[in-house]
Amino acid sequence: MKAIRVDRHGGPEVLELVEMPDPTPGEGELVVRLAAAGLNFIDVYNRMGLYPTETPFVPGQEGAGTVVEVGPGVEGWSPGDRVAWTSVLGSYAELVRVPARMAVRVPDGVDLETAAAVMLQGMTAHYLVTDTFPLGSGHRCLIHAAAGGVGLLLVQLAKRKGAEVVATAGGPEKVELARDAGADHVIDYRSDDFAEASRRLTGSDKPFDVVYDGVGKAVFMASLDLIRMRGMMVQFGNASGPVDPIAPLELGRRGSLFLTRPSLQHYIATREELERRASDLFSWIESGELAVRIGHRLPLAEAATAHRMLEGRETTGKVLLLP
Ligand code: NDP
Repeated sequence: MKAIRVDRHGGPEVLELVEMPDPTPGEGELVVRLAAAGLNFIDVYNRMGLYPTETPFVPGQEGAGTVVEVGPGVEGWSPGDRVAWTSVLGSYAELVRVPARMAVRVPDGVDLETAAAVMLQGMTAHYLVTDTFPLGSGHRCLIHAAAGGVGLLLVQLAKRKGAEVVATAGGPEKVELARDAGADHVIDYRSDDFAEASRRLTGSDKPFDVVYDGVGKAVFMASLDLIRMRGMMVQFGNASGPVDPIAPLELGRRGSLFLTRPSLQHYIATREELERRASDLFSWIESGELAVRIGHRLPLAEAATAHRMLEGRETTGKVLLLP
């Protein structure tokens, strides 16, 4: 089979298309023929070595496809079944070994590309608004990078919960997408100071119950200053670089704030949680309540180009790699 392999950490150029032996399923595993792999910022961190990953490795955490072989000890799966997964390293490959405990069934009403597009970013948006800070009507939140993969889904799910959403996005096209997704106000934080604009738009010095920050370094401190007393900073990503260390006193000084740094893996830690989040997403897709924007489809062989685009802020919505 063909796969992308990383032999040493580095820039996009370390993503090489190679020929590898077809995998066989181990105990508790499925082998799946890939229909689409999802590109995520975590793939960049794995590639660079920011999140430690031993080389050589096949990158990619997310995908969907069709089961071709079922390993010993697996029950309930057969060849031909449609399956999707996240948090399974090795997904940039024509054939992927997926632990059955991480596999979810894709309903007939959801195509495999859409399934691949929502497993990681969709379940992230789901846990952020449901469990990290359970949003409701009466809450006002700030969502950074709202036209991105997580962003467009997060805006929709925050609106679904009844919250008022202020969003940031870089450039006019992205601003339009965030608005279409339902954001009440969108700030182009490339041309405008988002903190000042947030205060202006809301008429409040500390307008937010919660900030969802997947951008990190470039926006973190200014965002912290926008949170109301006892509100929460949900710092969930580093698209602009990891946030500098911060003293707990800084949280006290700004109004007894809560700071959390959540990770998807801890919110799909049980089979029940994984299935609940996936089945919510699939049912909202089937009913038309959740729109999934696949902004870019590239051949698997062009994984390096896809990474350059993602890191260069050139993408909107989901980026898929197709075998
Ligand atoms: P996106 O599709 O959102 O792409 C990243 C976006 O971040 C860019 O399009 C850009 O949007 C914005 N950005 C701002 N500054 C920079 C910069 N200096 N370099 C690159 N991009 C920048 O990616 P994902 O949806 O995959 O991920 C979004 C964030 O969420 C990432 O930080 C990721 O790590 C995190 N994440 C965290 C998870 C968790 O469980 N903790 C799970 C999934 C994702 P714009 O041009 O509008 O600024």
